[in-house]
Amino acid sequence: MEGVAFGLDMNRRRVRFSIALLIIFHGLSLWGDTSLETFIAEQGFEYRFDPFRDLGILKKGYTSVVFSLDVPFFIVDYTLGFKSRPMFRNADGSITVPGETAEVLQHIFNKSAEDADNFSIAAIVIDPGHGGKDPGTIGTHYDNGAKLSLKEKDLVLSVSQMLFDKLSQRYPQKQIKMTRSTDVYLELEERTEIANSIHLEKMEAMIFVSVHANASLNSRASGFEVWYLPPDYRRDLIKPDSLDADKKDLAPILNTVLEEEFTVESIILAQRILNGMDTALKGKSDNRGLKEESWFVVRNAMMPSVLIEIGFVTNKEEAQLLARQDYLIRLTDGIYNGLTDYIDTFDTTKGFTN
Ligand SMILES: [Zn+2]
Repeated sequence: MEGVAFGLDMNRRRVRFSIALLIIFHGLSLWGDTSLETFIAEQGFEYRFDPFRDLGILKKGYTSVVFSLDVPFFIVDYTLGFKSRPMFRNADGSITVPGETAEVLQHIFNKSAEDADNFSIAAIVIDPGHGGKDPGTIGTHYDNGAKLSLKEKDLVLSVSQMLFDKLSQRYPQKQIKMTRSTDVYLELEERTEIANSIHLEKMEAMIFVSVHANASLNSRASGFEVWYLPPDYRRDLIKPDSLDADKKDLAPILNTVLEEEFTVESIILAQRILNGMDTALKGKSDNRGLKEESWFVVRNAMMPSVLIEIGFVTNKEEAQLLARQDYLIRLTDGIYNGLTDYIDTFDTTKGFTN
């Protein structure tokens, strides 16, 4: 439908048609319009579509493109990528990719495939939770009159410090950082700023590992678990100001999608750490598994992020284990083994693309 652009209202309840001047759609392409189905088959994309939001995602290698039907903006790897003629649905339900849009998409995915040859983990950020005025969870237990009191902030600092030392030794060429190495209080923003301040070259990725301890009102709850996190730390969410006036309503919709995304890398990283801990702590602590699920799982490996819960300070038996240095060493070894397994595989397979 040449010459017609579509706009969306805030609630996406109705589609407004407007005749646009189409200055942004000036490109003349040698490519003809093609059906999305054919395009996906030809290019070998992975593809998902959310019918409730009319949003689709194309991925190949570590690159993803999110599009919305009738919307001339495309999100490439978490940032507003480019403007082009929107994809649209035909009367028979099929989706058409305009020729020039197909051409830009193919170019983007080809370029990423070339870049992927240099993909590696260049930095690791270890984030001991809490600190200073914020002790995190506290476990207090009595055993034959002897008092045992554990603070999360101390346990996670101890584990993080050991992890830092081991990783620094193994990877002298990588940047290894801790968000705190003493008993100080940090705002969440300060932690993310530390990650953001690390300079990365193109195709260099960073891992973010946050370490915490658990608590429960149920004193029997015990075990370790690993959460994969949405990659908030380095994401440039789309600012309404960066969009044309009539597209400002899109920003919150697109950002909602981005906030729900979890990366394949975060999930693989979380699983490897969990495996490492499982091997190291077998018979001592329960494996509570991987946490978090999401519809939108994309490959975008610039910042795989996980959160490790090392155990419950509120469980007497586990608290007694966590109070022992040899147990913390064993636990750290488990995390370390999982992390290095991930990093070495990432580096040799160029971000799991080979
Ligand atoms: Zn915590």
